[in-house]
Amino acid sequence: MDLKGPLCYVLDFDDINNYAYQTALKIKQSGWRPDVVVGIARGGWVHARIQCDLLGIRSLFSVKVDHWGVTATKDGKAKLSVPLVGDVEGKRVLLVDDITDTGESLTTAVEHIIEVGKPADVRSATLMHIAGSKFVPDYFGVEITWAWEIWPWNFFEDLTSLIMKIYEGEKISEMSTAELKKHLREYNNIVLSDEKLSKIKAHMGFLGHIVYPLDKMWRLDE
Ligand code: AMP
Repeated sequence: MDLKGPLCYVLDFDDINNYAYQTALKIKQSGWRPDVVVGIARGGWVHARIQCDLLGIRSLFSVKVDHWGVTATKDGKAKLSVPLVGDVEGKRVLLVDDITDTGESLTTAVEHIIEVGKPADVRSATLMHIAGSKFVPDYFGVEITWAWEIWPWNFFEDLTSLIMKIYEGEKISEMSTAELKKHLREYNNIVLSDEKLSKIKAHMGFLGHIVYPLDKMWRLDE
């Protein structure tokens, strides 16, 4: 399949619950029981909260790492932007993210937690692991080949970026819904319902990217 942009998959919360459950099962079967969960903001937060439920953990802490700025576009090196919040000294820490792609975010977070948190042990868990990533998490739900995964908690952000890239790539400032559907298929192999598209249109209008509501067109607000 020759696409004009990155191959994308749209995931829903059933997919997330399924991958999180698979991950938790592997943690339980390994005989290791964490005392606390640390979620990597922003991508790992929802998964971290689900792991607390699946593993019976009440202590949920956070650390923030920035890496991929815009959808499917790497933003230089992974940078620790907010240090560890929470006391993990002497504790078994489960560090949770959504996916390991380059793996730099998890590498950075693990090093930071060991250095400042003085935990007894740190293990990592992700919903998905991309084969070939430099960092292999201790536990993950599923191994995949590279694609941009559109998480249900990042749906509007990702779709907005992808659609803005279509305007740029096509050198256009307006398109119909039918044209947008065709472009989303050709650029990213994405197919969306009219209902989802109209919610995205309202969102892009809210952000001031497009003129909305005006007519049936998706018109850039220039
Ligand atoms: P990385 O440091 O490259 O392992 O990725 C850092 C973060 O960027 C991940 O935790 C995700 O939130 C996001 N990310 C990276 N690659 C992808 C991908 N292929 N699909 C969806 N999100 C991704």
